[in-house]
Amino acid sequence: MVGYDYDLFVIGAGSGGVRAARIAAGYGAKVAIAEEYRVGGTCVIRGCVPKKLMVYASRVADEIEEAAGYGWTIGESRFDWATLIANKDKEIARLEAIYTRNLVNAGVTIFETHATLTGPNQVRLNSDGRLITARTILIATGGHPNVDSGIPGIQHAITSNEFFHLPELPKRVVIAGGGYIAVELAGVFNGLGSEVTLLYRGEEILRGFDDDLRKALHQAYEARGIRVVCGEVFASIEKTGTGLAGTTTGGNRIEADQILYAIGRGPNIRGLGLDGLGVSVDDLGAIKVDRYSQTSVPSIYAVGDVTNRAALTPVAIREGHAFADTVFGNKPAAVDHSLIPTGVFSTPEIGTVGLTEAQARTRFGAVDIYKTSFRPMKLTLTQKSERMLMKLVVDQASDKVLGAHILGPDAAEMAQLLGIAVGMGATKADFDRTIALHPSAAEEFVTLRTKWTPG
Ligand code: FAD
Repeated sequence: MVGYDYDLFVIGAGSGGVRAARIAAGYGAKVAIAEEYRVGGTCVIRGCVPKKLMVYASRVADEIEEAAGYGWTIGESRFDWATLIANKDKEIARLEAIYTRNLVNAGVTIFETHATLTGPNQVRLNSDGRLITARTILIATGGHPNVDSGIPGIQHAITSNEFFHLPELPKRVVIAGGGYIAVELAGVFNGLGSEVTLLYRGEEILRGFDDDLRKALHQAYEARGIRVVCGEVFASIEKTGTGLAGTTTGGNRIEADQILYAIGRGPNIRGLGLDGLGVSVDDLGAIKVDRYSQTSVPSIYAVGDVTNRAALTPVAIREGHAFADTVFGNKPAAVDHSLIPTGVFSTPEIGTVGLTEAQARTRFGAVDIYKTSFRPMKLTLTQKSERMLMKLVVDQASDKVLGAHILGPDAAEMAQLLGIAVGMGATKADFDRTIALHPSAAEEFVTLRTKWTPG
């Protein structure tokens, strides 16, 4: 390490940065990490974890409603936003402490400050201006929520960052966006009792997911009282005597107590000092890397959302781990991004792995579709009619299952396990000879006999 303060300096203590720092330290590297906000990053502090806790909170409403059919009389129920936020914050603080402790125990030095690159082997700590050198620098600065900054009145809108600390539950909320974060937060507000509008510029919510799931979730959301407006965006937002009002490009005026923008996320490169260093970025500002996460400057690597390969926590973690194995463990490792099981924690939930029907038809031509839609058993003793949807996309030539898609309870849990089978190249025949686990919803996947034909 002659001449350098550290073997590795990591900028950003989120999912990717923390994993890379710990694994590199485990290989004996001298490691430091800078974090400008809170250790744990987006996922732990204001992403996956607090969101899922709030999804759980929102689903209690369903349980209470369904209880009567099972003979339960539930007394008067009341939801208290402040209690949920306080309990969620306590849990997040606990996790942050664990992340910090794990870094310290691994021998990683933590600098609680914004860090800026000042050279291929040097960073400046913004807290005290100190310059620190490192043989390798890893950029793991994540992403930030985008807003439509050209819209008059946009300063009145919030993003997912503020969502987690709203002082109270808004009675009326508009969510601008149709991606998974927009859809999930719409479900949370709906379950907790807000009046929700989802406003999305595209033709249908959840671009990139299987069309059957997109349509079915849209219908389920409307049946649950969420107003889904597609093909429009806000043209302006204004403050009114009672809250906010947005006017859409379609001329609709929508009043709300909060307007939340969830229109996608951009890579965090602002204030990073990349200009003049020769680190290449793409049109969206994502840092360009090779399959080993190395940037155009050999001593600088980048992982996670800042590279915009697949903006998900397990992907950032896998990239951080592979980077450390490659650079410090003498085990070159590239991450395969081709098969990523994904969940959308809407209510009802989505779980998906592999190709959508449309993608499979484009890539493989002849595909067989197997699908089923049914009322989940749990709802049979209730007044509810919400349906579950399950679908398999199969390559006709090889019989390989190319994609599996689910809408309904525990969809994400199923998709995680289906990811193993699909990743191993399981065929429809493999699914068919698996004995069903009864009674379950997942058993439908091994009992799908009839090919679906359009019309
Ligand atoms: P991050 O976790 O964002 O960490 C980057 C860190 O770098 C941050 O802590 C930031 O403060 C710090 N930083 C930035 N610049 C500097 C600097 N110059 N100096 C010092 N520190 C800096 N993913 C899933 O897989 N499942 C989900 O259910 C899911 N839900 C989500 C819900 C929401 C509302 C959001 C916003 C995201 C969600 N994600 C989810 C995405 C997931 O959070 C990210 O993909 C993941 O956190 C990316 O990890 P990362 O290491 O790239 O960056």
